[in-house]
Amino acid sequence: MKRILVTGGAGFVGSHLCERLLNEGNEVICLDNYFTGEKRNIAHLLDNPYFELVRHDVTMPYFAEVDEIYNLACPASPIHYQFNAIKTIKTSVMGAINMLGLAKRTKAKILQASTSEVYGDPKVHPQKEDYWGHVNPIGIRSCYDEGKRCAETLFNDYHRQNGVDIKIIRIFNTYGPRMHPNDGRVVSNFIIQALNGEDITVYGDGSQTRSFQYVDDLVEAMVRMMATENFTGPVNTGNPNEFTILELAQKVIKLTGSTSKIIYKPLPSDDPTQRQPDITLAKEKLGGWEPKIQLEEGLIKTIEYFKNFK
Ligand code: NAD
Ligand code: UDP
Repeated sequence: MKRILVTGGAGFVGSHLCERLLNEGNEVICLDNYFTGEKRNIAHLLDNPYFELVRHDVTMPYFAEVDEIYNLACPASPIHYQFNAIKTIKTSVMGAINMLGLAKRTKAKILQASTSEVYGDPKVHPQKEDYWGHVNPIGIRSCYDEGKRCAETLFNDYHRQNGVDIKIIRIFNTYGPRMHPNDGRVVSNFIIQALNGEDITVYGDGSQTRSFQYVDDLVEAMVRMMATENFTGPVNTGNPNEFTILELAQKVIKLTGSTSKIIYKPLPSDDPTQRQPDITLAKEKLGGWEPKIQLEEGLIKTIEYFKNFK
């Protein structure tokens, strides 16, 4: 049995990861400050004697004896990471330093939940791991993008300087049950608007693209990445099927049977125009991993979750 620390474990992705790790017979410490995470996401795990919940902020050091660390703590949606931009960058940078320090001391493997945002508004399409990105360092997204880029730097420096066993995954847009209903991300926004019969808010003309990965496919990639030997990444994880935001809106309307109308709102600044992962490296290094759940199937599961959300 391994003792595994999941920072940001009460969040959307973290809660699914905690569940998976417990199901595999591990002991899990879920650490969270509940900024965007919620106890309801992990309430069903609280009776498990191998699950431990810790209220803590990763910008402060944390000590425990652990074998593996998944570092997910960081608000992930533009609304939440821009709410307190300085705190966001502190969370990425100081959180990485604190968790890498813990990994160094305990000789734990540590995985960083990085992001496709490190590619910024990419000039190379689809994005491969060797692309250095096109990021505005002073824009409204930079607290998140540059924080995550700096965390990748820190991970690699702890690896080179101190031999810490690091793993970096770059996560592309991921959706599924337990997304925060008010975090403004496109999938949750559209589903909630459609279920409530409200207008569907497409930003810009809806021609910008994203590639949507269902959360179970991401969790599988994370667990496989942690198990790799002599591979630090970074490795992309995402679903390469690319859709325009307008296509997504139309799909959600169809699948919910909603009477909602599409309306257009201004495009936020620095909003990437296209995004699609190249997952060749993930397939090669993660034992043939590839996404199993395509958009319609994943949307149906997510719609079901929001229908029952109270
Ligand atoms: P989320 O907001 O649901 O989860 C983040 C969790 O971190 C929350 O539970 C939050 O309370 C916690 N947290 C935030 N700041 C903290 C701090 N200072 N100390 C302790 N806990 C803190 O978001 P998510 O979608 O589950 O994202 C999880 C990770 O994956 C994040 O690091 C995010 O950057 C990364 N990621 C997610 C996506 C995606 O599409 N969901 C894409 C790329 C990267
Ligand atoms: N978006 C939209 N309507 C919404 C929320 C988002 O059109 O109600 C757009 C947003 O401008 C972006 C895309 O959907 O082009 C994905 O947005 P999200 O915030 O989910 O993720 P990110 O921009 O970080 O990829």
